[in-house]
Amino acid sequence: MGTASPTGTPSLCGTGGGINRTMMKPHPTPNAPAQRPVGGAPALKAKSASDVALGWLHTARFLTTAPQLHFLPDLDIPEIAFVGRSNAGKSTCINTLTQQKQLAFASKKPGRTQHINLFSLGKQGVMDAVLTDLPGYGYAAVPRQEKVRWQQVMANYLVTRKNLRGIVLMCDPRLGLTELDEILLDLLRPRVQDGLKFLVVLTKADKLTRSEATKALSIAQLQAGGGEVRLFSATKRTGIDEVATLLWAWAHPSIHATATVEVVPPAA
Ligand code: GDP
Repeated sequence: MGTASPTGTPSLCGTGGGINRTMMKPHPTPNAPAQRPVGGAPALKAKSASDVALGWLHTARFLTTAPQLHFLPDLDIPEIAFVGRSNAGKSTCINTLTQQKQLAFASKKPGRTQHINLFSLGKQGVMDAVLTDLPGYGYAAVPRQEKVRWQQVMANYLVTRKNLRGIVLMCDPRLGLTELDEILLDLLRPRVQDGLKFLVVLTKADKLTRSEATKALSIAQLQAGGGEVRLFSATKRTGIDEVATLLWAWAHPSIHATATVEVVPPAA
């Protein structure tokens, strides 16, 4: 089992939002071989990297909502932000990854669509990362003033969120990147070069033929400028394990996905 580095230690700076300071326990890590029980001893069952990642994502709970950036609590645990144009499939993706039906749909409640919603993650009530659901941005026809405002919010978010570890950009590959996606990519490129993690999730992959999917992947790989790209379908359950494992690794950089075992009591 790996050990947690200081960067993985989920203490919180500030007291924002009634969130308690917590202590980290080492995380399990994936992929140990199963061992046979000897003389009635408990068995050790292997857990795959994606099992660990999905178990961790399943702990997601609504943490807080903020109408503007400056209302976000100061945190010093890794933050992973989900962004994308409205209808790209962001809420569905968050709900699928966290295996919860309604979690991200909180962001769609009237009056909340422009809010930033934070979800805590961590086993045994020990918060070790947050998922941030940033407001979906409009279609191509949004007024220029609105685009400029969004651009400022994103630029500020990228600069001010010191604990930001990674960005997940949701994109419906049948529509490609919008002007605001392109603006975001321009803002992100220097940060990605400085080590910010970046993933483009090509949503609704079930709607693509195999050749369309291959083409969409290669176009997005060129556009992602050093980031990762994955096909994803909530309907066909494509890409879930891969995306989950990637997010887990972003949030736990000091733990190598090598070995975890689960103790299974021997059969009676
Ligand atoms: P958001 O506005 O980005 O949060 O998008 P939603 O998650 O609300 O999804 C927008 C629409 O796309 C909804 O009608 C979803 O049912 C649909 N959708 C989302 N993910 C998938 C998917 O993987 N496959 C298909 N076929 N439809 C999807």
